[in-house]
Formats: sequence, structure tokens, C-alpha cells
Amino acid sequence: MQRLLQRDVRMTNDANCFALSEAWEGEFRQYPVVLGLILGTGVGGGLVINGEVIDGRNGITGEFGHFRLPVDALDIMGEDIPRVKCGCGQSGCIENYISGRGFEWLYAHTYGESLNSVTIIRHYRAGEANALAHVDRYMSVLAACVGNLLIIFDPHYVGAGRWVV
Ligand SMILES: [Zn+2]
Repeated sequence: MQRLLQRDVRMTNDANCFALSEAWEGEFRQYPVVLGLILGTGVGGGLVINGEVIDGRNGITGEFGHFRLPVDALDIMGEDIPRVKCGCGQSGCIENYISGRGFEWLYAHTYGESLNSVTIIRHYRAGEANALAHVDRYMSVLAACVGNLLIIFDPHYVGAGRWVV
């Protein structure tokens, strides 16, 4: 590809590319530390410092979804919230609660009814009580989890991608 394009070509994962695209966006170039967060089927992101992706020694710098639930999230969801088994092999990783899947799981856990996120948001927009409480609870859990990232990285800018509803 480098030969065909006659320029340097580098590869990294989608979350790092997202963070880099945010950091290199014209109006954000002034920020030396940019954190990109993606809430999708999982949770991930990337860290860019002075225009360069920080991969870390093992290339896992942005794998924020595998942080464990913070105590503030347990206060919101209840200490007895099940520690969902994660694809990484651990239990209680935040992506199982704040991703799109986690949003649906938390609703089903709380109300005993499995609804997809589109339906939950439709109910939310219609003012349905369970959906209103659920979105409020979810946003509080999300804030508790993201708050820890802000303490660790203290970024100048946070770019956020999201799951589509
Ligand atoms: Zn995990």
C-alpha cells in the first residue's frame, strides 16, 4: 500500500483511529491530550498525546471497557448487581454495563423485560416511567465510569462516538 500510495501507511485499531481523527480535527488540534471514547457493542477508546496515538507496551492503552466497575457505579446499581462475565475472561468489566449491550442488559436485569435499546429509547421519549428511570440510572453509571478516566488522563478534550438508536 505504501508503494502504491507513495506515502507512509500505518495501521492501528478502530478506536485509536477515531481518537486520532478527533485529535487531528482542525478545531481540536490545539489540545495536547485527547481522549476518544466509543460506546458501541462494547466500550473502547484511544489516547492521543501531541498528535500521536499512545498504544502502550502491549497495545491495550484504550481498552477502557475492561476497567472494573467503580464503587460509585455499585452505589448506583446496588452492591448485589451481578458481575457479568466479560469476553476478556474477567467479570464486572464496565463495558457490560455502559455499552449498548449493557444498556439493554441493565434494563432487563432491573425490570425483568428484554427490550432492545431502540425500544427503550422510544419509551424514554414517550415519557414511560421505567425507561425514564433506566436512562437516568444508566447516565449516572456512565458518568461514574467515565469520571475515573478523566482522573487518570485529565484530557484537554474528550471525543465521544456512540451507539446509534
Ligand atoms: Zn473485560
